[in-house]
Amino acid sequence: MSKVFITRKIDDAVIQELKKNFDVEGWDSEDEAVPRDVLIKQAGECHALLTMLSDQVDEELFSSAPHLKIVANMAVGYDNIDIEAADKAGVIVTNTPDVLTDTTADLAFALMLATARRISEAADYIKNGDWTSWSPYLLAGRDVHHKTLGIIGMGKIGQAVAKRAAGFDMNILYHTRSRKLEAEEAYGAQYKSLSDLLEKADFVLVLAPLTEETRGMIGAEQFRLMKNSAIYLNVGRGPVTDEAALIEALQSGEIAGAGLDVFEQEPVSADHPLLSMKNVVAVPHIGSASTETRFAMMKLAADNIKAVLTDEKPLTRVSL
Ligand code: NAP
Repeated sequence: MSKVFITRKIDDAVIQELKKNFDVEGWDSEDEAVPRDVLIKQAGECHALLTMLSDQVDEELFSSAPHLKIVANMAVGYDNIDIEAADKAGVIVTNTPDVLTDTTADLAFALMLATARRISEAADYIKNGDWTSWSPYLLAGRDVHHKTLGIIGMGKIGQAVAKRAAGFDMNILYHTRSRKLEAEEAYGAQYKSLSDLLEKADFVLVLAPLTEETRGMIGAEQFRLMKNSAIYLNVGRGPVTDEAALIEALQSGEIAGAGLDVFEQEPVSADHPLLSMKNVVAVPHIGSASTETRFAMMKLAADNIKAVLTDEKPLTRVSL
């Protein structure tokens, strides 16, 4: 019987479904990632791995996994997997696109609203008992409606954010490697060079994947181009931002605030400088974290495993 190893505690219904056909084992912790030695040992024995974005799946792992046929990542991003090494080892890699698009777009929009309207600061203020009187500029933030949103990485999630932004009467700019005519037509989005977008946007939102090309793409030079009133948002992957440059830009007033779901190193420590800044709203990589969507992601990853181990075509294969 083919063996499947799941690197984190997932929904029992998904495990039971896999158990009908396969021998399934898992790392049974919700908040602790599987230790590297356990992952390598399990990879050596199994035919399929159901992985999380916190698992490093690399050449070392593939070279010690003679039976491995598929790595099903429970994320749309797959920067934790060495795709070339997988290809060389003849291992199929799958991800979970589409099922998380709207949920992640909701979070990106929530982060933009929360940062602009100072929601977490205001929530702390009232909980701390600081609310003694109404006053005209008490916790006054910035408008979102009718402002200019610049989306870097206008893929599925970027376009779902553009759809929401159109409902807020926002002016939408975007930057990708290739133009997205459907988004231009549907939401009036305008294609811009990166520097043009940075200069014009009130909100700059990163939704590009982490690749060699995007790593450190937003650094000191890019923050300098942004308006002093701009709010920077990252819901893509942390290392797309040069975090030291972001801290500097926030401290010097080069930009006005930041909303962050992702960080250079995750998890961040409680004393991370970004966490003590009032104008930063930080959340712990919860872009796709609704119970419905997380279930759909688990199920899609399991369906990909089932397909590959029964010699069928995977549903959502990542290609080189
Ligand atoms: P997608 O449909 O593949 O879209 C990615 C977009 O990024 C594409 O439009 C692509 O443009 C663009 N892109 C790639 N390289 C670029 C570059 N060098 N400069 C500018 N744009 C570039 O993927 P998606 O489903 O929208 O997801 C996007 C990313 O969001 C994922 O890769 C993942 O890292 C992140 N994500 C985060 C969370 C979270 O929890 N925070 C949840 C889901 C996804 P081209 O079409 O021109 O190649």
